[in-house]
Amino acid sequence: MNEIMLFRGDTILNQTIPERYRSCGIVSKLINGGNPAFVQRSGLVKSIQEHINPLTEAERIFLSKSEFISFSEEKIVAKQHCLYDKVQNKYLSNELIECEDYYETRYVFSLDISECIPLSPEEGIFLLEYNCNQVSRKSDGLNENVIEFQVESGWYQCEVCKRNEKHKMYIVDCVKFLEYHKEYCLNKGAFLNAKEDKEWLVLPRDYHTDLRGYSSMIPVSDIWKAELYFLKSEGKRNPDQFTIQGTILK
Ligand SMILES: [Zn+2]
Repeated sequence: MNEIMLFRGDTILNQTIPERYRSCGIVSKLINGGNPAFVQRSGLVKSIQEHINPLTEAERIFLSKSEFISFSEEKIVAKQHCLYDKVQNKYLSNELIECEDYYETRYVFSLDISECIPLSPEEGIFLLEYNCNQVSRKSDGLNENVIEFQVESGWYQCEVCKRNEKHKMYIVDCVKFLEYHKEYCLNKGAFLNAKEDKEWLVLPRDYHTDLRGYSSMIPVSDIWKAELYFLKSEGKRNPDQFTIQGTILK
């Protein structure tokens, strides 16, 4: 099978807390927070949620509450998202410079979905089952080893793996979905944006009893990795900026 990759650009201190990717994974925090594309396309997200064939009542409720994580087929689009300035509501013309661990302020995540199974290919809806990799988890601050201790001591075990289950996510090709469901193209701009961005949405689908629901993150896994950057104009960040719970040490 050909390799299929998706890309996501993110900025430090966003509500999706990309700075905690080492310990947590790729997180979807608030659908309307931090990602302007989501706001524009909230109608699209709702229609996809209604459409990912809810099998049971529990699953229907889950879908109505859960959050998608936005990706693009194009790495260049993800990098462009790294330059979006929420305060100024515009894209900065700036240079992304690759840097070493813990000095970054911008993130480009790449997700390998080559193994996904078509659920409803004509609608662009797929399912991916995969394994997490707890051993690859790391602390989010340079001079910490809390997560490393958890991993080495076996103190924390992934609940999904403990149940001998695979991790799962739904994946939606937005353009395909909207082309199939022309009735949802009420907002032409949203469709054009999705098309221009070659946007895909990912919906994590792991049940966690401690959350009493589904987790809204893609755990640390070999199916994705992060490239780290800072803006030329801003420079690197303080590598000790974060402590275990993501609290900023200013
Ligand atoms: Zn796991």
